Amino acid sequence: GEPICECNSCYGGKDCSEVLTECLADADSGDPLFLEPFWMQHAASSAVVVAGWHRMSYRFDDYSSISEELEKHIRQLHAVIGNAVTDGRFILFGAGSTQLLNAALFGLSLDDSPSPANIVASIPFYPLYEAQTKYFNSMEFKWQGDASLWKNRSDSSGTFVEFVTSPNNPDGRLMKQVLKGPSSKTIFDHAYYWPHFSAIQTAADEDLMIFTLSKLTGHAGEPIWFQLILTFLVMYQGYTLIIKERKAMWALVRDENIYKRMQMYISLSTKSVSRDTQLRALKLLKVVLKENGKDLFEFGPKTMRNRWERISRSFSTSKRFSLQKLEPQYCNYFQNFTGPSPAYAWIKCERAKDQDCNAVLKTASIIGRGGSTFNAESRYVRLSLIKSQDDFDLLIQNIDALVSKEGGVA
Ligand code: PMP
Repeated sequence: GEPICECNSCYGGKDCSEVLTECLADADSGDPLFLEPFWMQHAASSAVVVAGWHRMSYRFDDYSSISEELEKHIRQLHAVIGNAVTDGRFILFGAGSTQLLNAALFGLSLDDSPSPANIVASIPFYPLYEAQTKYFNSMEFKWQGDASLWKNRSDSSGTFVEFVTSPNNPDGRLMKQVLKGPSSKTIFDHAYYWPHFSAIQTAADEDLMIFTLSKLTGHAGEPIWFQLILTFLVMYQGYTLIIKERKAMWALVRDENIYKRMQMYISLSTKSVSRDTQLRALKLLKVVLKENGKDLFEFGPKTMRNRWERISRSFSTSKRFSLQKLEPQYCNYFQNFTGPSPAYAWIKCERAKDQDCNAVLKTASIIGRGGSTFNAESRYVRLSLIKSQDDFDLLIQNIDALVSKEGGVA
């Protein structure tokens, strides 16, 4: 009979169930498409309709960057999940990580000190922190690399701002700051601190915390490079551009002065986050919050836990490759011990000659992101576990083929 579906290039057969060989498994990007089936099931309730007459004004009367409704829902979300304390915090809304992380950097570094603030992070770290700090080349701050090198610094070394990603991208570990003392400040990036990717052990209570919708609901919006270029043009070239951004990120800030500086940064770069973005975020959060998050936080964590168990099984017989070790932890949201469910696998090539692990995986048609991207050894590779089910299945197929060859060619 006639084929009943149009297969994508990696599948064949009548019902597209046969996986074709030699197909590249692309596990490079952190595109959170694992949540797409959830939103397909909630298509009607999550749809946004905006009438033409709606919100035409500049709204000079409203200088806050976030609508009250949205703020209320964000506070409610954190209360339900128990992943962050919002009492006594200001909430600042931004369009994705570039803008808010930068606003945080400006907020924390602009003080009366004559020398620029030193910006650091612990290896392996999310590369945007370094890229962004260097790219903006500000007089106010300077990239200094690995946080642990500055542990025993002297008082005269100046102000430090440390990025702490918890759970960490790429290895999924819960992290604490390395630098202590009055001259160090911390930006906690909790992009992955949701039940999908981690047990919720405590409500984060830090002075400056950042969360994003992109890893919570899966709405990632424009790629980061696109935003970087736009933000750069806006800041330094005097262009007035409309940021075509549809994702949302927010900061919980304890100190009012820092909050105000961050708000100033956001309003100088883009005035505020687009109303359409806010409206969409609100609509999504309303669906998320139904029955205290039951639907999304059943689907998300279950999917991610299954994927972790599956990839762990694939590597369990391997002596050539190892996965990061993560333990089950008590989760306050589920009130139970939950198995690991990280967003990324952090693979290590164990053989002495496999120094370029990404190249080794490439010979098996697996595309990962090399350790050097995260300032780690190239013996490590990050594999994304949050893409679509098809991408994940292909990845597992190619890993199984690679691991099964080990005995023969060792
Ligand atoms: N922080 C970290 C550590 C991330 O990995 C990501 C997404 N890759 C982000 C922030 C979120 O960025 P955005 O809100 O721009 O999607």
